[in-house]
Amino acid sequence: MNYTIIDCYTDEPSGLGVPPYLGTFPRYIYGALTDVGNNPIYLTIDDIRLWKKYNSIPSDKSKEIKTNKKIYNLTKNYENVEEILKKTTHLIIIAGINVPGKYLSAVPGRLSEVTDYIKDLRCYKILTGPAALLGSIQEGGKKPEKYNTKSFDLIDFNYLNTNYYDEIKAQQGAQLIQQIPWPVIAEIETGKGCDIGKCSFCTEPLKSKVQFRLPRDIIEELKALKKQGVEHFRFGKQTCFFSYQNGNLEEIEKILKAAHELGPKTLHIDNVNPNKIVGKDGEKIVKLIVKYCTPGNTTALGIESFDKEVIKKNSLNTTPQIAYKAIKLINKLGVKRGKNGMPKLLPGINILFGLIGENKNTHQENMKWLNKILDENLLLRRINIRQVTPFEGTKLDDLAGTKFIKKNKKHYWSWRKQIRREIDYPMLKKLVPEGTILKDVRMEIYDGKTTFGRQFGTYPLVIGIKGKRLKLNEFYEVKVVDYMLRSIIGEVIQK
Ligand code: SF4
Repeated sequence: MNYTIIDCYTDEPSGLGVPPYLGTFPRYIYGALTDVGNNPIYLTIDDIRLWKKYNSIPSDKSKEIKTNKKIYNLTKNYENVEEILKKTTHLIIIAGINVPGKYLSAVPGRLSEVTDYIKDLRCYKILTGPAALLGSIQEGGKKPEKYNTKSFDLIDFNYLNTNYYDEIKAQQGAQLIQQIPWPVIAEIETGKGCDIGKCSFCTEPLKSKVQFRLPRDIIEELKALKKQGVEHFRFGKQTCFFSYQNGNLEEIEKILKAAHELGPKTLHIDNVNPNKIVGKDGEKIVKLIVKYCTPGNTTALGIESFDKEVIKKNSLNTTPQIAYKAIKLINKLGVKRGKNGMPKLLPGINILFGLIGENKNTHQENMKWLNKILDENLLLRRINIRQVTPFEGTKLDDLAGTKFIKKNKKHYWSWRKQIRREIDYPMLKKLVPEGTILKDVRMEIYDGKTTFGRQFGTYPLVIGIKGKRLKLNEFYEVKVVDYMLRSIIGEVIQK
């Protein structure tokens, strides 16, 4: 049998698989197939677009006025897509954007897009990834795009048992790297599910029960990835890194230390429940992360709202006081600048628009607490604001659906803008004051005469180099010279 994987990329609250991130879904599926003697071929949605729209002939990126992000992430197989698909007997589509963002150098595939591309292929078609369970969204605040059942022979979130830790073939999955020419950051899974599991909007309890991977399995996978040349890692696939093995300090240190000893260029984390930071051993875990990870690291805190009424009505798990304490503690232990020019560890926060009970006071409360953080010279690496999506099966969908989004939509633009102008902008100036030198900035796209790049890692700052078209995929040392609302303008110091 000839298996082909088409990766349309995935973005879940607990797990990223949009390039340069390589998610767990393609790796585990690749591993499961090779384990039983198959030789699967990995393609990206970009390969498919190139085949359909440009006859598999790529453009010269250095000559594009504005980089075409839809055909940016080509695998080593891009020239042979037609032939590969002709021979394919089993086509596996990985898809599912559940928390859409703006991606610097990638455009995830929509379900309607990929189903159109594959409609004439004669083979067994499988849909997996988050889209198989929840659909996929392109824009927050809207109902998810559902798959057309007629387009697939099998729709399975748990295809090849990739959701059972005792069955995943993560180590074998590392060989997938051989088909990818760009430098990836590998999303590493530590666990799934949530021991709180009651926030109104959250899909994690619908997807998974609480389980953790064994340190041994994680370490073996890290080693296998490193052996394939991976230099950048993020412990990002979990709902809370601090909850790994129920917050067991020794086990947490075991995986951090093992990853550190591999000498990666990037070792970061993602997703932390603020309660665990202020809870038992929280401070010790922060210290371990600062000790073993590389600088520029961020703990993304799911705060969602600072409004007590909204917190209550949506059963959110963090009070503003706890969130504030967690932010303060991370700042105290992580603010020191590391050798790439960024602080070692900072908090990031998530704010959600459209939760049950939201009104004008909600924004006032958010601003009150954000101003307090700013006034006390505490740093936030980033504030992620998005409109909530009422996924089927959540309390939010049952009780309110898009009611509050519709009611308050007229305010969102001004609420967001106020946060960007009054909090993000001054915060950015404190985070990387003028003259700060940032190292290892990889140039990724052009927009006219500006080149945009970023460091590898979790929520890296986007840096625009005005008036210069620098060589893409090369690394530069950059000095901060000016600011945009959420990104910075830099000047090249040296290559
Ligand atoms: S704490 Fe709430 S939002 Fe976070 S994973 Fe658990 S249920 Fe979901």
